Amino acid sequence: MVIPSLIERKRDGGSLTPEEWKALIAAYTKGEVPDYQMSALLMAVVWRGLAPEELAALTDAMLGSGERLDFGAWKTPRVDKHSTGGVGDKVSIILAPLVAACGVAVPMMSGRGLGHTGGTLDKLEAIPGFCTGLSMAEAMKMVRELGVAMLAATPEVAPADKKLYALRDVTGTVAAIPLITASILSKKLAEGLTGLVLDVKTGSGAFIPELDRSLELARTMIETAERHGVRTVALVTAMDRPLGRACGNALEIEECLNAFRGEGPEDLLEVTYALGIEMLRVAGVEKDAAKARTMLEGALSSGKAAEIFAKMVERQGGDPRILDDPGLLPQAAEVEVWRAPRDGTVLRVEPKRIGYGVIELGGGRRTVEDLVDPGVGFVISARPGDKVREGEPLASIFAKDAAGIAAGTKCLAEAVTIGSGKATLLPLVSHRLTKDGTEVLGR
Ligand code: URA
Repeated sequence: MVIPSLIERKRDGGSLTPEEWKALIAAYTKGEVPDYQMSALLMAVVWRGLAPEELAALTDAMLGSGERLDFGAWKTPRVDKHSTGGVGDKVSIILAPLVAACGVAVPMMSGRGLGHTGGTLDKLEAIPGFCTGLSMAEAMKMVRELGVAMLAATPEVAPADKKLYALRDVTGTVAAIPLITASILSKKLAEGLTGLVLDVKTGSGAFIPELDRSLELARTMIETAERHGVRTVALVTAMDRPLGRACGNALEIEECLNAFRGEGPEDLLEVTYALGIEMLRVAGVEKDAAKARTMLEGALSSGKAAEIFAKMVERQGGDPRILDDPGLLPQAAEVEVWRAPRDGTVLRVEPKRIGYGVIELGGGRRTVEDLVDPGVGFVISARPGDKVREGEPLASIFAKDAAGIAAGTKCLAEAVTIGSGKATLLPLVSHRLTKDGTEVLGR
């Protein structure tokens, strides 16, 4: 294999064969291809894209660089959900036990905060004692016995992606649909799934804000996952405002605990149900959307989902008493109410600014070594469209000290726009995509 000739071919618009992708990724993972050559190739992919067969081959090669959860002949359907990332997006924490309560196994490997978005692992680790570092064997045992495990991708899963992702991060090659697709699917397909549901975020707080590119990402991911034999559906959901009210790790866990009691914010529950319905459908447990929703509502109102969540927390070393006593979650030292600076209508609550605000408070990372403060963040009760009066409480800031309260106050003043006129919002769930086509659900 002569690497410069592969780079030149890709640069000039040609394709690499599946054998070439396989050999290249294997050699790169072993350290036999230098980063400078791989960077040049990645940049050529950014400009030239990948043909569907090339993308399938790259995904396969990255998947094959590591181990997979192997459930053998186990008949229970196994479905996961992947979100492209948002602010206040704590859906996974409610959804995984909820869907498990309906008879579908959910082996969920999640990530940490990335850019302005929070990560499911950081949220779960706000639960005192909760361990996300399960081995493959522990994860499989939990999934078989309880129906769910929520863990970090182990070092054995897609090591090629770990190296490539770190390289992409520093070479301006993250935001390319084929590279995002191969990266995400190399990890998701390692979960031994029978089905996958994608939550593709769109709007100013999404990594890909434009709707047409969000749809392209969804279609590319569906086509690639289906080629690997995994039934895949995508929903496009709104990320032009935070999802739910809480943004910050322990605060989001508390919001999930409320949701298990049926008291979660409506938008959070709606997105959770919409994705849960698709998970039950791809699992083949219930084809009819209305019946699937009734099943999910029943699993929540009966307390079965909460019971599975409590068992999962306990088995992963966490304190299940948080369900009855959220006061056991980490608490911020300082709390201050933020009030409307004027009369008017809430026109925007800008999610990206809120996401960076959580990081400024210490609830996310500026560098990989940073420790996350689980207690800090915001609870924002104001929603776009609300009419408010000057002085009315719109949010609470949770910080570790007075400087944090000041940073949080500045963040909310910049993120929340109050004025005259009408708020324009994206539909909460706007599109449903399968391999057969795209359905517009809301405009
Ligand atoms: N998340 C991933 O795991 N990979 C990407 O490339 C982007 C988001």
